[in-house]
Amino acid sequence: FSASDGGGSVGVGGGGRRIPVGLKKPSKRIVVTGGAGFVGSHLVDKLLGRGDSVIVIDNFFTGRKDNVVHHFGNPRFELIRHDVVEPILLEVDEIYHLACPASPVHYKYNPIKTIKTNVMGTLNMLGLAKRIGARFLLTSTSEVYGDPLEHPQKETYWGHVNPIGVRSCYDEGKRTAETLTMDYHRGAEVEVRIARIFNTYGPRMCLDDGRVVSNFVAQALRKEPMTVYGDGKQTRSFQYVSDLVDGLVVLMEGEHIGPFNLGNPGEFTMLELAEVVKEVIDSSATIEFRPNTADDPHMRKPDISKAKELLNWEPKVTLRQGLPLMVTDFQKRLLSADN
Ligand code: NAD
Ligand code: UDP
Ligand code: UDP
Repeated sequence: FSASDGGGSVGVGGGGRRIPVGLKKPSKRIVVTGGAGFVGSHLVDKLLGRGDSVIVIDNFFTGRKDNVVHHFGNPRFELIRHDVVEPILLEVDEIYHLACPASPVHYKYNPIKTIKTNVMGTLNMLGLAKRIGARFLLTSTSEVYGDPLEHPQKETYWGHVNPIGVRSCYDEGKRTAETLTMDYHRGAEVEVRIARIFNTYGPRMCLDDGRVVSNFVAQALRKEPMTVYGDGKQTRSFQYVSDLVDGLVVLMEGEHIGPFNLGNPGEFTMLELAEVVKEVIDSSATIEFRPNTADDPHMRKPDISKAKELLNWEPKVTLRQGLPLMVTDFQKRLLSADN
């Protein structure tokens, strides 16, 4: 690494490496599991953009090479087709563990695979972190709060989750992943961080991944009715992906384990969301009601006071600012044959 002015006392860098204070931080070697997916690929852009070396591990279940193809040829970038359910040997300073399908349609497609990914995949990545002394960040989810009885949700809330329902492979899977993370911290002294991510949207989401924002945007662009499930009065809070990526990085680099809610507290009913999509895309767009899915949480909104206070983080992009950025990307991909 390059020196600016020398000397001084000693601080601790990524992966526990000690670096003299006053010297520029060395670039890090970082693994991003699920790095070919929606959130992961934006995180990879940020890490490579600031000079780190990144290894993406992905089995391409919901991720796509297209999301990272602009880094091919960069000597600091490596892409490994690998399933985190299997062990792997690598040497890095930090592990961002994102590998897991996130859309309900995807995670219910093969529930056994989803829970294996959450449990065995997280165990393998924690075993790896333990062996090499890397810092480990788990991307957990607001789904750990289930169909919440507390509103908005604080990190101290233990949740209201059906252990035997169709969403359990994901929400109970992530709860177990959090347990494993804390047990490796307490029992094996692994440095860990836990983010509880609330609904996030932005460019590179799968066009037909079944999540509400991507569905409404693709439907409005295709001049199809927007499918509102149930009565449309259930609420969600939507975060733009760049805010999330900033939050993940400050969490990884800060001193606090978490868990931290990372989400945008702006709360919308699905009917209100449909109105915003109409405003942004097409004022003549229509809606169509469909039956809701089982165990659908009635409301969700993060209390982000903890992240504000301890990480000095809060989201900056409102839904009305973020949606048009996603629409431009969806328009391009709907027009091209290979989307
Ligand atoms: P995504 O489906 O776009 O990305 C997940 C990535 O993981 C994909 O590239 C997929 O191919 C890969 N993957 C899945 N199973 C794997 C396995 N067994 N081995 C290797 N790779 C595997 O989803 P996303 O929205 O980018 O979500 C990323 C992470 O953030 C997930 O862990 C998700 O649970 C969490 N999260 C996301 C949201 C959100 O709203 N986007 C909300 C809460 C939590
Ligand atoms: N593991 C891995 N890469 C490593 C170290 C461990 O994939 O570099 C996996 C290992 O195969 C095991 C899991 O992580 O399945 C947990 O490892 P740990 O050492 O904690 O447990 P043990 O192997 O003793 O059961
Ligand atoms: N939803 C909807 N229409 C759709 C897809 C989803 O009304 O086409 C609803 C769904 O029932 C849920 C909310 O939107 O109440 C958010 O669903 P999503 O799958 O995006 O994420 P979740 O928060 O359930 O994981």
